[in-house]
Amino acid sequence: MSRIAVYPGSFDPLTRGHLDIVQRAARIFDHVIVAVSNNASKRHSFSVSERIEMVEDAIRGLPNADADTFTGLLVDYLKRKKARVLIRGLRVVSDMDYEFQLASFNRRLNKDVETVFLMPDDQHTYLASSMVREVARLGADTDAFVTPFVSRRLKLKFRAG
Ligand code: ADP
Repeated sequence: MSRIAVYPGSFDPLTRGHLDIVQRAARIFDHVIVAVSNNASKRHSFSVSERIEMVEDAIRGLPNADADTFTGLLVDYLKRKKARVLIRGLRVVSDMDYEFQLASFNRRLNKDVETVFLMPDDQHTYLASSMVREVARLGADTDAFVTPFVSRRLKLKFRAG
């Protein structure tokens, strides 16, 4: 049976840190689905289709990864995809509080789902989508933090706005 892992997140936008996690997961699992959350109660800078497009562009070189979106309960989405592994990235100790809570909740909702935490390369430790958006809004270059495609999208979004 092939081992399918789901990497869920807002990816608003996808950063080099996220991509680092996808690449690591793709080396471990047979198939990785980067699942962009479509949560109506959360406000995003980029629409779901924009966020998916950015993920698709970034993972073009990874044959065993693809992009998708989900609404509703994550554990239900995993079931539909016949996946039992949930990938999350851990940057710093402060991430743990929220991530452990989430993992523990998901385990209570479905005991067959296993959360696997992956650590990015050191250079991505202090990288977050929120910071990238802020930097872009202030007109700085974002090439060091995101892919060239995402960087162009950030310029278009925040220059026009
Ligand atoms: P969410 O709203 O679900 O937290 P994010 O897009 O912010 O969505 O993050 C998705 C996952 O990627 C989370 O597990 C987060 O800790 C992880 N992550 C975010 N930025 C990085 C990074 N720079 N390096 C590694 N993992 C990251």
